[in-house]
Amino acid sequence: MDLKALTIESAAELLKKGELSAVGLTESALKAVKEKDGELHAFLSVFEKEAAEAAKAADQRIKNNEAGPLTGIPIAVKDNILVRGEKATAGSRILESYRAAYDATAVKKLKEAGAVILGKTNLDEFGMGSSTENSAYGPTKNPHDQERVPGGSSGGSAAAVAAGMCLGALGSDTGGSVREPASFCGVVGLKPTYGAVSRHGLIALASSLDQIGPITKTVRDARIIFNVIRGQDPLDATTIPGTTSAKKFDIKKFTVGVPREYFEAEGLDARVKEIVLGTIKKYESRGAEIKEISLPSSHYGLATYYILMPAEASTNLARYDGVRYGHSAAKNDLWGRYESSRAEGFGSEPIRRVMIGTYVLSAGYYDAYYKKAKAAQVLIQREFEAAFKKVDVIMTPTAPTTAFKIGEKTQDPLQMYAADIFTVPVNIAGLPAISIPCGEIAGLPVGLQIVAPWREEEILFEIGDLLKENNS
Ligand code: GLN
Repeated sequence: MDLKALTIESAAELLKKGELSAVGLTESALKAVKEKDGELHAFLSVFEKEAAEAAKAADQRIKNNEAGPLTGIPIAVKDNILVRGEKATAGSRILESYRAAYDATAVKKLKEAGAVILGKTNLDEFGMGSSTENSAYGPTKNPHDQERVPGGSSGGSAAAVAAGMCLGALGSDTGGSVREPASFCGVVGLKPTYGAVSRHGLIALASSLDQIGPITKTVRDARIIFNVIRGQDPLDATTIPGTTSAKKFDIKKFTVGVPREYFEAEGLDARVKEIVLGTIKKYESRGAEIKEISLPSSHYGLATYYILMPAEASTNLARYDGVRYGHSAAKNDLWGRYESSRAEGFGSEPIRRVMIGTYVLSAGYYDAYYKKAKAAQVLIQREFEAAFKKVDVIMTPTAPTTAFKIGEKTQDPLQMYAADIFTVPVNIAGLPAISIPCGEIAGLPVGLQIVAPWREEEILFEIGDLLKENNS
């Protein structure tokens, strides 16, 4: 059985009809990992025994007529999300030997739904990157072209879904880490509204921006996973109740906003621009109204993000001291142990961000940097709010380019950061957004980003799902 030909939806249907067993499906997934992952390196660990057991339990549940839409479905989990008893490295040496003491809420919900957790996927260290090259365990390769990156930081999750090694995956998105790899690998990635999915058990990068989100082959599959993992959680005080409104969707009464600045951005590949504008035109031909809008403060998105994110990251990373978690250097004095554990355990990107973060928070610089970035955040938020008074959704490219070559941007952090130019403003504003494949350039996928108002994931699913008819 080739998982490439299956979606979560179609597999669930076959399982229900008894034309497929969860045990058989999981065996096929594990076989695909064995055959393909030697080259792609999407996985950091694979749970053969546990997956087989979960699949067996799923078959029983299906037999008892107690199955849900994820029962028996093989899912991969980014290695910064905790799965009880398993390693959780976050792509870092400092957590090489760390094992999770509990399940992240999102994982717990997947397990309760009967999903089969297949293994943990590769990522940029602590989610810091756009290519998965910052993993301490080596880069993941893009299944469309192995000389290229899969995007990041959830590159392992996106590659695993695109290569047919699982039917869905969890990623995390602080500034684009679900959407950009989804775009590079030709799959769907959803960044939910901030607070829609619990962050309990997600190893924190920047807590006010982080969200767990699904990576799948179709928009409908993303909706299935989202509906399982979302919801208020007493273990994460920032979670919000309910989410998503159930407005009636009618494309003929629908307005799509096209933000001028996003299409004039420096570094946007003209071919990506053409494909995305062509996709928006297709919505117009189906009856949607297209309106040009302006989001001038988004121009400050990257600058704002690269102050707020490192500030929070520097605080979050303070807990890795060689005492409480993971790698501990063999030093007898306390300060020596702190210093050496961090020097041995952290790669250059976390170190860079801890330095920037402590700088922008330090006395004398706090007002000039952190406080200013917080003010810019409000401007960005207000502009989105004003725009959504005029339009129902906003469409942009997900990334300025298609997948770049491995090694192409590793020497220049600023160039790497620019890969997230269209995705970070959405995190800064706390809004939901989805990336959906909308075309190809020389065999490399291009992603359309759709942004919706706060808690309106349902609109993303409705409008996003129409794209598959456009493409066919
Ligand atoms: N690429 C961005 C960064 O390096 C976003 C990462 C993310 O969303 N986790 O911070």
